[in-house]
Formats: sequence, structure tokens, C-alpha cells
Amino acid sequence: MNSPTTPPSSELHERTVSELSGLLQARKLSAVEAAQHFLNRIQFHTALGAFLSVDEEATLVQARAADARLAAGSVSALEGVPLAHKDIFVTRDWPTTAGSKMLSGYRSPFDATVVAKLKDAGAVCLGKLNCDEFAMGSSNENSAQPPMGFSQPEPVKNPWDTSRIPGGSSGGSAAAVAARLTPAATGTDTGGSIRQPASFCGITGIKPTYGRASRYGMVAFASSLDQAGPMARTAQDCALLLSAMCGPDPDRDSTSLDVPAEDFTLQLNDSIAGLRIGIPKEFFGDGLSADVRAAVDSALAEYEKLGARLVPISLPRTELSIPVYYVIAPAEASSNLSRFDGVKFGHRAAQYTDLADMYKKTRSEGFGEEVKRRIMIGTYVLSHGYYDAYYLQAQRIRRMIADDFQQAFGQCDLIAGPVAPTVAWKIGEKSDDPVANYLADIFTLPASLAGLPGMSLPAGFGAGGMPVGLQLIGNYFAEGRLLNAAHRFQQATDFHSRKPQGV
Ligand code: GLN
Repeated sequence: MNSPTTPPSSELHERTVSELSGLLQARKLSAVEAAQHFLNRIQFHTALGAFLSVDEEATLVQARAADARLAAGSVSALEGVPLAHKDIFVTRDWPTTAGSKMLSGYRSPFDATVVAKLKDAGAVCLGKLNCDEFAMGSSNENSAQPPMGFSQPEPVKNPWDTSRIPGGSSGGSAAAVAARLTPAATGTDTGGSIRQPASFCGITGIKPTYGRASRYGMVAFASSLDQAGPMARTAQDCALLLSAMCGPDPDRDSTSLDVPAEDFTLQLNDSIAGLRIGIPKEFFGDGLSADVRAAVDSALAEYEKLGARLVPISLPRTELSIPVYYVIAPAEASSNLSRFDGVKFGHRAAQYTDLADMYKKTRSEGFGEEVKRRIMIGTYVLSHGYYDAYYLQAQRIRRMIADDFQQAFGQCDLIAGPVAPTVAWKIGEKSDDPVANYLADIFTLPASLAGLPGMSLPAGFGAGGMPVGLQLIGNYFAEGRLLNAAHRFQQATDFHSRKPQGV
């Protein structure tokens, strides 16, 4: 796979992370050249709305430092490799907005742990990527920040069809990787926000086991669900990035697990002969559109050709994951977002009479509609008198959903199914209907609620020629197995190397 020759600079963006790494290690490409190439592309493709901020000089400072380390013999696989971060990760050298007006002009005094780890591994940051406000959404139509090159907020466009959404909330990350504006990006997944946009944009993304990657410096949405992960074109690239992102962070994130970082690339080529893939019948019911089903079915047939065995299983509480998630996530969000009061971070109302009025005006102006909706739902379900009926009940069912998975993993090694019921929809199609958006999360929420690792890999195309992702879910700490199964599939198929027209 690694090309021995330097590509013409016009094709550099076609290179995967692994290929760029090979060129950088062989000193056939400098980190500065790589960074400059992608910075130029980002400037050229602002119409997609994928990036919120770039700072050429900050990028080049990192690239020069990487070149110096390469010259001194660094063998880190990510040394000099460009990537970009979802704007939910705080960064010292770029603004952080989480897609919210509330954080306009905010700059963090420190880097998120995941950002710092990737930087320590030598990766060069190209800038910050658009996302739904505080990661709440499935379409990236909820960002309140104008993307680069715009003066008003503007939905991110799907590079495969710019009249469609890229998915969300990591929509900027997925669109940027699919359009080759960056070889890789970080994303976060609370209820599907890595897997669903990866599926909609035809790229690969993985959410690790809850607690594998530190949440320190990730602007919090729902703390018991939020998890960081990589988005790239291939499983191999995701393995490289994830290896650098994970690891315990006991002093800064009390929910980070005491599990050492792993090299997820080691298992990539293992045989998957005899692998038992569980097929949950609840993922293939009436709600699944025929085009997505056809693509998923043929991907599963490919797995059988590779020697895997398909095992029918049941995840009986799949449907309940929607009401459960939309109680728990807003409950945690309403608590997490109480810190945005106009005193410590970002936006403050220009005029107010007293402290209470300042809070009220700041929050009314600073938060968007979807965020306010969730704060209200969350406050309601946590309030005295409703706590038992909603929040506690949701927690109980969450436990049962996790138990259902353990039952299923008695019969299979991995679980496979669709990522979303349909391909990416048209911009505006569901923007006035929050419930329609929530329902589209049905296949990603169960793994999130159970804290299990899950990924999406390109599996074919559906209606309108739009990409369809295959979701793979593993048991706790089975990231290596997931990436292995995805890598073997990608060696047998070419969906991951197809590219949208016009980019
Ligand atoms: N679509 C889900 C939501 O709106 C998931 C978002 C996420 O994973 N950040 O909450």
C-alpha cells in the first residue's frame, strides 16, 4: 500500500494516513509540504462549510517542529501527518466554539488530552471542524457558528451531494475527510456522532469503549456517553490514530479506564475465518429502507466469503434505546451546560439589570433552539416528582440494554447491522422535526448506552448514489477485533477508496 515514490503534489490529498506516514518517514515529503497542501485545499473548498477555523501559522509551527523531529530520526507513525479536530475538543492554538454562539471568541488555555496525545505523537493540526452545537444533532444543521468563508451559520454540505446533510454531530469531520481536505479527523460520539456521519460520507470511523479515551477537554454534552474517536478513510488509518488517542488519564478524567494504550494495528491482518457475526433481527425491521438493506446484505455476504459465519441474534430493547437516550442525554446536558452562565466562558449579554437577568439574557441569546429544547427536557426529567418516572426508569432500561448485549455476545464475536435507517437526507428535510431526527439514531444508540465500541465502514451505495455504512459493534475492549474485521473487508472491497465527484 505504501507508495515508494513521491506523488505529484496535486495528488497528495489522495494519500491515506498510512501512505503519508510512509512518505514522511522516508523523507520524501516534509511535514510542511503536507500541511501546506491541505491548507490550500481547505481554502479552495470552503463552500462545503466543513471548517470553522484555520490558522496557517499555528499549523506551520507544528509542521516545522515535526520536520525537525523527523530529521532527528523520529519513527512515530503520526510524525508530520496532518489532521483536524472537531471543534468540541479544546485547543490552545485555535479557538474552540463547540458550534455554539455561547463560545464565540473562546480560547482554551490548554489542549484536550486527546489533542495533546495526537500532538505528542507528532500529528500536525490543520484547524477546527464544524459540528452541531454542543454535539447535539444528527445532521450538522444545528451549528450556530459561521464556517470559514461565511458570515452567517451555514449547514455543512455532504461532498457526495451538496444538497444533502453530511450527518452529525461530527459532520464537519466526515465531510472534510470525504472531500480530502484532511487525511483524518477526530470526532466524538455520544449517540452515534462518529458512526452516522462516517456512514453518510462514505468514510471509516470508530468510537472506542466508553472510558478508553480521555474526555478531558472535550466540551461536555452527556458525560456518561461522550467518547472520542478517529475518522479517516480506512480502518488501518483509524487503528493508527486510535492507538495514539487512548490510554488512562486518572488525574483529569475519573471515568477514563485504567487500561493501557494498545497498538491497534497489530491485529489488522489476522484471519477472520470462523468469526461469528451476530445479526440482530431488530436492526432489519420495517424502519430500514430497502436501499440501505441491500447494501448491508451484500456487505454481510462479503463477510461470509471471507470466512465469517452469520449468527441470528436478538437485541430486544433496541426500540427503547430512543426514549432512554433522549431522557439520559438531555438530563446530563442540562447539568453540564449550567456552567455557561456568562461569567466564565464566552458570550455575555450586553445589557442586563441584575445577576439573574444577566444569566437569563446570556443563555437566551447564547444557546440555539435544539440546545434549549434539551436543557428543558433534561431539567424536567430530573425535577422532583418526575425523576423516578423518567430518569430512574431510563437508567434501569439502560442497564437492560447493556445486559442484552452481553447475552448476545454469548453467541457471537461481533455484531453487524446498518448504521442508520436511510442514506443522508436533504438539507432542510427534517430540520423542523426534532423527533424525526431522534428516530434516525435508532441503530447507533444501543451501543452508546451500553458503552460498547462501535464503528462504521463504507459498505456500498444506496438511493441517489449516496454512501451506506456497515456498523460493527464489539464487546468491551474489542476495538482491535473490530478494526481487524473492517480492515479485512477493505482489502476485499473498494468502497472506502471511492471518492465524491468534484472534490
Ligand atoms: N444524534 C444524537 C443526538 O442528537 C447523537 C449526537 C452525538 O452522538 N453527539 O444527541
